[in-house]
Amino acid sequence: MQSPSDPISEFELIQRFFKTGADAMNSKSRIGLGIGDDCALIHSSSNEEIAITSDMLVEGRHFFVNANPELLGRKALAVNLSDLAAMGATPLGFTLALALPRADPVWLEAFSKGLFSLAKQFSCTLIGGDTTAGPLTISITAFGTLPKGEAIRRSGAKPGDDIWVSGELGDARLALAALRHEIKLTELELKQIEHRMHQPIPRLELGIQLRGVATAALDISDGLLGDLKHILNQSNVDAQIWIDQLPKSAILLKQDSSIQNQFAACGGDDYEICFTANKDQRSAIEQISKTLNLSLTRIGQTTAMKNDAANIEILTSDGKLLSKDESKALMKSFDHFK
Ligand code: ADP
Ligand code: MG
Repeated sequence: MQSPSDPISEFELIQRFFKTGADAMNSKSRIGLGIGDDCALIHSSSNEEIAITSDMLVEGRHFFVNANPELLGRKALAVNLSDLAAMGATPLGFTLALALPRADPVWLEAFSKGLFSLAKQFSCTLIGGDTTAGPLTISITAFGTLPKGEAIRRSGAKPGDDIWVSGELGDARLALAALRHEIKLTELELKQIEHRMHQPIPRLELGIQLRGVATAALDISDGLLGDLKHILNQSNVDAQIWIDQLPKSAILLKQDSSIQNQFAACGGDDYEICFTANKDQRSAIEQISKTLNLSLTRIGQTTAMKNDAANIEILTSDGKLLSKDESKALMKSFDHFK
C-alpha cells in the first residue's frame, strides 16, 4: 500500500507540486513555454523569444567533495548552456547563486577562472546572482535568444522520424565507474575519457544548426533512454532503438557488451543532443556533421504510439528484440529520489 508520505520520483514531484499549479495559472500570453522542456520560453518582442534554464550542482551529489574548483566552474555553466543548446538558443547571459561553506579566495579564484573560460568561449556574460554561506551548491540560470517560433521543443517528433544523437555516449559514466573503482581502466585510458565527465561541451552550434531541421531535441543528462522518453511522451510517439548503433568511444568498446550497452544507453552526464528529424533531412544532417566536425549518428526511429505511455523497443543488430525484462534492466535511468 502506498502511504501519502512515501517518497516519490523527481518527475512525479515536479508534476504534482509545481507543474499542475503552474499550468492552472497559465495566463500570461507572453509565456511561450512553461515547465517540461529543456528551457522555458518568453516572448520578448514580435520576432524574438528568450529561452531560460536553471541547473544546480550540489557537493557530494553531482561532484565529489574536494572536486577541482576550476573544472567545477566550467561544468556548472556547461550543463546550463547544454539546455540552451537543446532548444537551439544562442546564449545571452547567466546568473550565479552560490552557497559556500567558507569564503576561500584560492578556491574562488580557480572556480571563477573555470567559469569565465567557458563564458568567454560561448560569449555568455555573468549578469548577477546571490551568495550565501551554506553547503557547497552552485545554481546557475542561463538565458538565450531565439528567432520567434524556431525553438526546438520536446513535443515536435512525428511517427517515422529518425532518431539521432551527437558525439559518443557512456564515457562520463565509464569515468565515474573507474573513479569509484567499480571498473578498472589504465591510467592512460582514464585520462583519455575523464574530460567527458568533468568538461562536457555544450553543443550550442549544433542546436543552432538544427533549427528548422530537427522536429524535437533534448540534451542527455540522465541517460539516453530515460531522457528520450521525455521526447516520446511529449510528442505522443513510441520508438525503436538499435542498441548496437549507439556511438561509443574505443575505450568503452573495450568493456564487455553489457557494460557498453548499459553505459551508452543509460549512463548519465553525457550532455550530447538527442534529436528527431524527418527522413528527408538526412543529407542536411550529414552536412551539419561535416561542417561542425561532430559525429551525428542515426540510432533508431519513432513509431506511432500504441498505449498511453511511451514505449521504447530495443533491437540488436541481428534483429533480436530485447524482452520487457531485459529492456527494463537496461533502462534504469537516473532519478534523484528513487
Ligand atoms: P533538464 O534535465 O533539461 O535540466 P529537468 O529534468 O531538470 O530538465 O526538469 C524537467 C522540467 O521540470 C524542466 O522544464 C524544468 O524547468 C522543470 N523543473 C524542475 N524542477 C522544477 C521546480 N522545482 N519548479 C518548477 N519547475 C521545475
Ligand atoms: Mg536538458
